[in-house]
This record gives sequence, C-alpha cells and structure tokens, in this order.
Amino acid sequence: MFTSLEGKTVIVTGASKGIGRGIALRFGQAGLNVLVVSRRLEEAEKVAAEIGPRASAFAADVTKTADTLAMAQAALDRYGAIDVLCANAGIFPAAKLGDMTEDDFDLVMDTNLKGTFLSVSAVLPAMKAAKKGRIVITSSITGPITGFPGWTHYGASKAGQMGFMRTAAIELAPWNITVNAVMPGNILTEGMEGMGEAYIASTAACVPMKKLGSVFDIANTALFFASEEAGYITGQGMVIDGGQVLPESPMALDEMGAA
Ligand code: NAP
Repeated sequence: MFTSLEGKTVIVTGASKGIGRGIALRFGQAGLNVLVVSRRLEEAEKVAAEIGPRASAFAADVTKTADTLAMAQAALDRYGAIDVLCANAGIFPAAKLGDMTEDDFDLVMDTNLKGTFLSVSAVLPAMKAAKKGRIVITSSITGPITGFPGWTHYGASKAGQMGFMRTAAIELAPWNITVNAVMPGNILTEGMEGMGEAYIASTAACVPMKKLGSVFDIANTALFFASEEAGYITGQGMVIDGGQVLPESPMALDEMGAA
C-alpha cells in the first residue's frame, strides 16, 4: 500500500529501550538501515542485534553537541545518508514544585528539549544537501494537552518540543524536510513499569480503550510520518493514546465504568 522505505536510513535516539526500541525495531522491519542511539552502547547494541545486519549501535548523549554531530557522521559513514531522524530520547523524573531543584529542571529541559534541537541540528546539513528528509519528534500528551503532578519541567519540555516543531517545519519546508511529532499517551515501557502497578492500573482505567498503548502503536505512526505518502504533512502532532485525553468530566469516566 505504501511506497517501500527499504534501503533508507533512520537515526533513532533513545533507542536502547521503550518507545525508541519499538521505533527502531519497526523501522528495521520496514527495511531501513537503523542507527540505534543511546548513551549506553551495550544496550543499543542489543537492540541493533535484534534488528539484524542492517542496524548498528552508536553511543551518544543528546545533551552534548559533539555527541550529536558524531551520531550524524556515523550514520553518513556507515550508510551514506540520513533520510529520517526520530528524535525520541527523553526522561521523566518526577519532582513537585517546591522540591524541584534548578538541576532537576535543567536536566529534563536539556535532555528532552535541547536534545531535540541538537539532534535535529546535527542531521540538517545532510538533509539539506539531499533536499529531503523526515524528522519525527517524540513529544507527549503531557504538557501540550494534559498535566500531571511532578511533571512541570517534563510538561514544559514536551510542550516546548511542539513549539520547536512548528517553526522548524516552516523553516525546513523549502528543503522538502518535514517535521512532525508523535504524542503518546501512557505507553507500556520499561520506564513506565517503573511508575508502579497502581499508576499503570489507574491510568488504564481512565483510557476509553481500557489499556495502555504499546511501543508499536507509536512506532507505526512514526513510520507513517516517515513515509513518502506523508510528504505533504508537516508541523503536525498525532495523539496516540487510546482516547485518554477525551473524557471531559468525571461523569464521562463513570459512563466508562472507570470510577
Ligand atoms: P525509557 O523507556 O525510559 O527510554 C528512554 C530512552 O532514552 C532510553 O533508550 C535511554 O537510553 C535514552 N536516553 C535517556 N537520556 C538520554 C540522553 N541524554 N541521550 C541519549 N539517550 C538518552 O522511556 P520511554 O518511555 O520509551 O520514553 C521515550 C520517549 O517517549 C521520551 O521522549 C518520553 O518523553 C516519550 N513519552 C513516553 C511515554 C510513555 O508512556 N512511556 C508517554 C509520552 C511520551 P540510555 O539510558 O542508554 O541513554
């Protein structure tokens, strides 16, 4: 149905586990060369091995300019092109206002928002030279649409990514580079499992589809944004949340049998 992406190259940041691993596996299945990026090389190598010979691992910290430049160069050296960037690396430590330190705030913004800027900046020379490219940012519902106690910094970083995306989409359109965002609801990842069973159960109860999402729900949307067929879509966010943001009142939750 869709034009094959076989032989194209994707860089996926934060791909050693969770949503990034799912994106890397899905793009690998679709026949792309995959540069699997995270700070821990051994973990990234495990995911590359799962994908097979068309994938390889690279250690980079997205908060560091030199690392993101080296990441882009590695993709060019190994595969000769950068067709797609999935800027997915992110962290979500919780701290409520009053307890949150400046360092807490800076680490989240540096990883989630500045890391997006640095990753995008690093791939731009290659994409501009090729006069084409696809950038898919992993944002969230938290920040752009919803809030959750403990995540003021996280929500600001995820809303910031959406603001970044809209202007980047305008700036990069002349080079045929699209910039879009996946906005996951609560997705069952290793990171999410760390939030505990009670959090997972209460979240699932508030989702009209009564379950958390899978990493492949997000990966499939990222793959769509990377497709030839999505070439006229730019500056857009796609919410993938099983309807989580939809109930407008406790009564709606009652109707769902969630209360
Ligand atoms: P996760 O399971 O904790 O995985 C995070 C990934 O990011 C890991 O591969 C980690 O690898 C990497 N990473 C963290 N800091 C990094 C850095 N400075 N440089 C490079 N890589 C870094 O998290 P996840 O749940 O999959 O979340 C992935 C993305 O989805 C994040 O942007 C998050 O905000 C977003 N999201 C998740 C959910 C959800 O329900 N899970 C919902 C909405 C949005 P290393 O530790 O090896 O570096």
